[in-house]
Amino acid sequence: MEIKFWGTRGSIPAPGSHTLEFGGNTTCVEVVLLNGQRVVIDGGTGFRLLGQHLTAINDPCHFHLLLTHGHWDHLLGIPFFEPIYRETTEVTVDGWPPAFQAMTRVFDSHMGDGFFPVAFDHLKARIDYLNNLAHGPLDLDGVVIDAMRLNHPQGGLAFRFQEGKHTMVFITDNELGAARGRRIPEFVDFCRGCDLLIHDAQYLPGEIADRRGWGHSTYEEVVDLAQQAEVHNLILTHHDPSRTDAEVEQIVALSREMVAGRKNPHYVDAAREGACFRLP
Ligand SMILES: [Zn+2]
Ligand SMILES: [Zn+2]
Repeated sequence: MEIKFWGTRGSIPAPGSHTLEFGGNTTCVEVVLLNGQRVVIDGGTGFRLLGQHLTAINDPCHFHLLLTHGHWDHLLGIPFFEPIYRETTEVTVDGWPPAFQAMTRVFDSHMGDGFFPVAFDHLKARIDYLNNLAHGPLDLDGVVIDAMRLNHPQGGLAFRFQEGKHTMVFITDNELGAARGRRIPEFVDFCRGCDLLIHDAQYLPGEIADRRGWGHSTYEEVVDLAQQAEVHNLILTHHDPSRTDAEVEQIVALSREMVAGRKNPHYVDAAREGACFRLP
């Protein structure tokens, strides 16, 4: 599978000269499977750029959209995704069930109080709601996607892609050290031995005490998870909107110090808008 980051920022877009390296758009990740199917995780503002790209390459735009949860930074790009206004586009939505309701509410409600001028049921694309992943694995012609509940206010889902021998785990908006909810050993089991773990690392260790219960993790907690789960490659994402490129570089440097001399993970970096990874 090939994994491309179209949005890496957490909470709110953060454009400007200080975020050019890692990007200012909010969460959107494209996964193109070896069988040719396309899966998109979340519709943050990076989703708009993906829409421009798919239009430019004249792609028929038939794909699965997996929503981790319904917070606005993960939905804001959907009304600005150009192919959603075309009859030929087919989107199958799955993921955290309340997120589908939240996605429809981004649009006009016919009551004059919507957040966008266009009504959801006036969109020309065919949008189906599968609602599979909250209940069991999703099989896309042999690629199996599993889900796990996140530690995040109002809930959400993490996703694990298994394609042949290769595994990618995507976990954003997740508080590893939460007082309640899923415990670390459950996340270790979910991530065990994966080729690539992409995980929320919004906060610094010095910030977390004031932000407990906000639903995010520190890079130290994430590196620790990756080590316990013997993850091969680790990418930190959902960068805090206040974080400059230099500060994200510093987080990467500190994370690499933590893994120096250890067997796993072999590789640590921060998600960059436009960056692409291929498994195998
Ligand atoms: Zn978020
Ligand atoms: Zn969130």
